[in-house]
Amino acid sequence: MTPDSSSILHTDCCIVGGGPAGAVLALLLARQGISVTLLEAHKDFDRDFRGDTLQPSVLTLMEELGLSEQLLQIPHSQAHQPHMHTEQGDFTFIDYSRLKTHFPFLTVMSQVRFLEFIIEQAKQYPNFQLLMGANVQELVESAGTIQGVRYRGQGEWHEVRATLTIGADGRHSRVRQMAGLAFPTSNASPLDVLWFRLPRHPDEPDELTALVGHGQFIALLNRDTEWQVGCVIAKGAYQTLRKQGLEAFRQSVVKAVPQFSDRIEQLQNWSQIAYLSVETGCLKRWYRPGLLLIGDAAHVMAPFGGVGINYAIADAVVAANILTAPLRAKQVTLQDLLRVQRRRALPTRLIQTFQSIIQRQLFLPGLDSTQPFQPPALMRLPFVPRLLARFLGFELIPVHVAPAAQQPACPTS
Ligand SMILES: Cc1cc2nc3c(=O)[nH]c(=O)nc-3n(C[C@H](O)[C@H](O)[C@H](O)COP(=O)(O)OP(=O)(O)OC[C@H]3O[C@@H](n4cnc5c(N)ncnc54)[C@H](O)[C@@H]3O)c2cc1C
Repeated sequence: MTPDSSSILHTDCCIVGGGPAGAVLALLLARQGISVTLLEAHKDFDRDFRGDTLQPSVLTLMEELGLSEQLLQIPHSQAHQPHMHTEQGDFTFIDYSRLKTHFPFLTVMSQVRFLEFIIEQAKQYPNFQLLMGANVQELVESAGTIQGVRYRGQGEWHEVRATLTIGADGRHSRVRQMAGLAFPTSNASPLDVLWFRLPRHPDEPDELTALVGHGQFIALLNRDTEWQVGCVIAKGAYQTLRKQGLEAFRQSVVKAVPQFSDRIEQLQNWSQIAYLSVETGCLKRWYRPGLLLIGDAAHVMAPFGGVGINYAIADAVVAANILTAPLRAKQVTLQDLLRVQRRRALPTRLIQTFQSIIQRQLFLPGLDSTQPFQPPALMRLPFVPRLLARFLGFELIPVHVAPAAQQPACPTS
């Protein structure tokens, strides 16, 4: 179905997906005076259990944009030295507190509020356009070059034509499928995660904590009045847990976190528990003529280490830095797109390898109820928590926001 030419919208860059990757890229390009249209399938940014952790690198990028102070006005908690509670005792497994940065902590902030904040900033640029409830379903292609997308919105077809189309539509990316790009073989993780919320009492510790023991590996993230609870399970165990019943699951949680005995009853049915099938993958090629994939659409991440949002945002920063000039000239070459992939593929593969190692060396042994959990000896070395903070917090080579062009678009307010 092709809309009549009067309803075709023209833009320099059409971004599909208003998650962390798409929203931040839209802001950065708008700030450089590029005309950018962001299409988001949902009517709002409300999303649960999609990850709320911002590594120090994101705060640093926000500082480079002059936005860190405003961002930190949004309710959040800070984890300086996340620790692990085991039957053998407690130990700090990541130490952000000694990082040489203005933000030596992991920020736990509602992803909804974060995205709303970024969009609010982008809206100040007249060359930014946001289309909510715009579900992209087709690519516009001519002679092998992607020239835009067609989307369904308010029951009708619409079309956007662009010099460059960005697929930032997440792990199940439709743009990726339509472009004929696919993850080589999916690296199925040996683990899955169940997420749910329980009330948090004001006098409870506020740092991010992992509790390991009795065959359980549970992470607690402070969301002010609530705990976001991440319960790691062996791949495929979810169906067995469901068969065993909710009461058995509640009891297993209380065994690992006895303080929850006074509130576990609030878990009344399985619909309160979100199941995440953990998978990882990375595209061999992130682009086609006229199209680039970034964020989870290019590399799906495991949640371990809390880096998915951060890598998605780093992709956006690199894409904006490299593609601003070609977009301004209205000519984006394959070489430009390859440069983005080259800069991002190595850090992505490194973190995925790291995640795969800790899944096997740390999380899987933690789920073994037949023997007491012993954290890997390496993790107990005094310098390792600091190294981990540096690696998770900033990647090996940190990315930075390029200065705004000499004559950026003027904010309207
Ligand atoms: C349960 C869970 C927990 C996680 N926990 C963490 C964590 O603690 N920390 C962390 O850093 N990462 C975490 N992650 C990973 C993190 O959420 C992702 O890595 C990150 O959100 C990727 O950002 P993105 O912008 O690439 O994609 P997404 O955030 O997935 O955004 C994609 C957007 O595209 C939109 N979209 C999809 N299809 C279309 C379409 N056809 N047309 C228009 N729009 C479309 C979607 O509605 C969505 O808004 C978690 C992920 C999950 C699933």
